[in-house]
This record gives sequence, structure tokens and C-alpha cells, in this order.
Amino acid sequence: MGLLSQTYTHSHILRLVSRRSRHPEPKQHTPLGRTDTPHHTPHSRDRRDRVGQEPRRHRRYESEPQGQYTKQHLPTLTHIKKLNSITNTSFTLTQALTGHSYTRHYLHRFKIAEDDTCPCDGTTSQTMDHIIQHCPRFAALRLDHQILCNNLDVSPFRMESLLKHERAVSSFAKLADSILKRLKHFNGLI
Ligand SMILES: [Zn+2]
Repeated sequence: MGLLSQTYTHSHILRLVSRRSRHPEPKQHTPLGRTDTPHHTPHSRDRRDRVGQEPRRHRRYESEPQGQYTKQHLPTLTHIKKLNSITNTSFTLTQALTGHSYTRHYLHRFKIAEDDTCPCDGTTSQTMDHIIQHCPRFAALRLDHQILCNNLDVSPFRMESLLKHERAVSSFAKLADSILKRLKHFNGLI
């Protein structure tokens, strides 16, 4: 996929879920960092792509209310460009950076799961941060990544910090992939 890839606006998600009977399949994308609403017109798209719109795009990305979770990882378009320059963003890395995946927090938000608790203890909300950073079910998968980040002196779960080293970004992508590919099974969805 080349470009860092994809995020969803809330409207995109709602449209996605409304079309599906059970699980929201996060397969329709708009490029991460795009600031248009779902109601943009071809005309507005043309205007956005004009030369000279870059500073405006940066300001809009940083100020728009959507994508707050993504902005915790990638606060500015400069961070997104940096990520694009050092890795091909996989689908699971995109999920980890947008928070849109089969977490019970996500499924509960769209009334697909009865509650949002993680099977690891039956009480903790199963957010993306929980499964990537804290859930004991995936502790063993985190070890190599945490050791590498410790050696590189970067924060293991802050993309802004991981971007200092290509190896750290790759390691995080691998970790996210390992966890997210196990998530549906862990949640009893398959
Ligand atoms: Zn858990």
C-alpha cells in the first residue's frame, strides 16, 4: 500500500457498520492524514490537491476532531510522512494506529458486543491500548519489542518516539500484527 494508509472518519465507520450485520470489517479506507469529510465534493478535492495547500492540510489534520486516537501516535502530518518514508504500512499497523479493529471496546461502541470487557480478567475495557500495551494474554509477544526499544532508548508504544529508529517501527508493526491476528480468536469471534 505505499502511503500510510488509512483511517476512518466516524461517518465512514457508521456507514460501514450499518451495511454489515455483525462485525465492522475495516476494509474501506481513506488515506491517513486526509482531512476531508465524507461529504467532500470533487471540487473540494481538486482545491485540496493544489500546490500550496500543504500548510493548510497540516493545520487541518492537527485541528480536526476526528482521528484523536491516531493523533496520539502521529500528532502531525510530518510524523505520518516520516512513517511513510521508512515503512510500508501494513493493514494491521493501520488498525493499531487508528484503533479500529476487533477490540471489544470497538465492537461494543457499535453495539456489536454486549460489553467491552477483555476476557483476560472480565473487567478491563479491551481498548487498543490495552491489547497492545497491557493485556497479559499477549505479554510474551511484547518481550522482544520491549527489549529492543529499551536498547534503542525509545518508548515502546509511542510512535512519535519509535520513529527515531526504523527497526523500532518495524518491531512495533510486527507486534501489532502478531496481536491483532490473534484477537478474533481470543474474543471468540472465530
Ligand atoms: Zn486483556
